[in-house]
Amino acid sequence: MPHDTDRDDPACESESADAGARSRPGRVDVDIVGSGPNGLSAAISLARQGFSVRVLEASDTPGGGSRTVPLASQGPHADLLSDPCAAVHPLALASPFFRSLDLERHGLTFLHAPFALGHPLPSRGTSVALRRDLSTVDAESFGSEAEASAWRRIIGTASRYSDDLAALLLGDGRRPTSGADFALADTTGQAVRSVVRGARGFASALARSYGEIALRPGSAVSAVLAGLAVHAIAPPARPVSMASGVLLGATLHGHGWPIVNGGSGAIVAAMRAELESYGGQVECGRRIDSLDHLDGRAIVLAVGALEARRILGASAGLRARLLRPSPGGAAARVDFVLHGDVPWTDERLGHAGTVHLTGDYRHVDTAEKAARSGEVPDSPAILASQPWTADPARISPDGRRVLWSYAHVPNGSEVSVTERVTRVIEASAPGFRDVVDATIERGPADLERYNASYPGGDIASIAADVPGMAFRFARSADPYSGGARGVWMASASTPPGPGVHGMAGAHAARRVAEYLHSDHSSRG
Ligand SMILES: Cc1cc2nc3c(=O)[nH]c(=O)nc-3n(C[C@H](O)[C@H](O)[C@H](O)COP(=O)(O)OP(=O)(O)OC[C@H]3O[C@@H](n4cnc5c(N)ncnc54)[C@H](O)[C@@H]3O)c2cc1C
Repeated sequence: MPHDTDRDDPACESESADAGARSRPGRVDVDIVGSGPNGLSAAISLARQGFSVRVLEASDTPGGGSRTVPLASQGPHADLLSDPCAAVHPLALASPFFRSLDLERHGLTFLHAPFALGHPLPSRGTSVALRRDLSTVDAESFGSEAEASAWRRIIGTASRYSDDLAALLLGDGRRPTSGADFALADTTGQAVRSVVRGARGFASALARSYGEIALRPGSAVSAVLAGLAVHAIAPPARPVSMASGVLLGATLHGHGWPIVNGGSGAIVAAMRAELESYGGQVECGRRIDSLDHLDGRAIVLAVGALEARRILGASAGLRARLLRPSPGGAAARVDFVLHGDVPWTDERLGHAGTVHLTGDYRHVDTAEKAARSGEVPDSPAILASQPWTADPARISPDGRRVLWSYAHVPNGSEVSVTERVTRVIEASAPGFRDVVDATIERGPADLERYNASYPGGDIASIAADVPGMAFRFARSADPYSGGARGVWMASASTPPGPGVHGMAGAHAARRVAEYLHSDHSSRG
């Protein structure tokens, strides 16, 4: 176990006690703990630079939050597949690192539904339905031309710059110009300039739209923007919510919100194939409890911050200076097995890949604040995916399909939400209960058991507060520091935060590569 103390701590500048052992033959250059999108991204990035890499995964299958598994281990619905975590992939399409790979050669295909997003507004008796192509957004999409034109101005401005916005928000803000593992480093300066230009247009579009009431609470535009923002599992007006809302809005029309042919596990299968093509390996069933049995010259902890802290804390001789992160809001997943389509009042919603059941701005703001204060709202914020709208193969020969959903609840909540979710869907799809054959709920405790990176069901892995996140793990200026020499963090707990984009892994890998090169040259 090569790791002594924080390399940013002046007291820790000396070489590791067993640094000499690092040249032991047969030893891998990098051990990576966790095979989610970030662990695999770090592994691919390092393996294609020629380093030997081993990924150690606690579960029996790789993938973390991007797996596809049978809905049930036995019973009548064991033939159906479900994505236990991520289901919809705008960030995979927007990810500069994924775009630097050719994952399609390993069979990865993204599929788009006719409508990217549906958003029922039961309090107004209407819905919003948005196609990927911004030019199709019209009075019918929003129920009024004033609102449609406000949307085109606001999100149209953002989506024109969606690549730059993605490069900036998913980028490595700490080190924008060094390294050239993928194109992002070279484009960050340009992205900043474009986004500054775009931000001016965006701000003036907001100001004009506010004057036209389109953005006031109660409007359909503010409802849809709030639904995008609460993906951060926080009230919509928080800066981190607004940033993720703008990015998701930009990707909605810029890249689309696809599902993956065969399920989210196909992303990981393609990444694993890519890694293996460079000689990297993934070992499943390897839960790591301390670093003592790892002998990589460098270690990447691609797990949530609390889990990383537990592993580091149990490692002998480690004097890492770690901060104690606190978990954020949580999710409760509910899968509905249906024997037909959802009977939405607005039939356009039956063709929407994603449906936001978050109501209007005031409604979702109140629900998110209640969940934050420990109360399970009667009508929580709910996000749903209808994968069969993009991929008819998700319908079994006898007509069954899985409606994927999750509701925002307090961290650690033990309250069942299936009835609440059912009621909320019924409000916009009367008769929904009659098409439900079975429900499977996975509450916060189940999610934590499934993946230690979701403490108390916090599916954002302690990342909802992005400015804090950057410094939260180790007392270091570098958000990817693992708090000990030769150890890095790369997961949804580090910038740019949650989502299947692999960017934290790519950013950490640049640091690991530099460390390995300097470690090698310091030993002559
Ligand atoms: C319910 C839910 C819905 C989501 N929906 C979306 C979505 O639609 N789109 C989207 O882009 N993102 C979504 N996300 C977020 C996304 O799944 C995560 O942000 C992403 O998977 C994080 O990747 P990661 O590599 O950092 O960590 P993870 O994917 O969490 O992977 C960490 C891996 O480390 C393993 N591990 C943990 N501890 C140990 C240990 N001690 N030893 C060895 N291995 C260990 C875990 O088993 C896991 O495989 C969702 C997440 C959840 C939970």
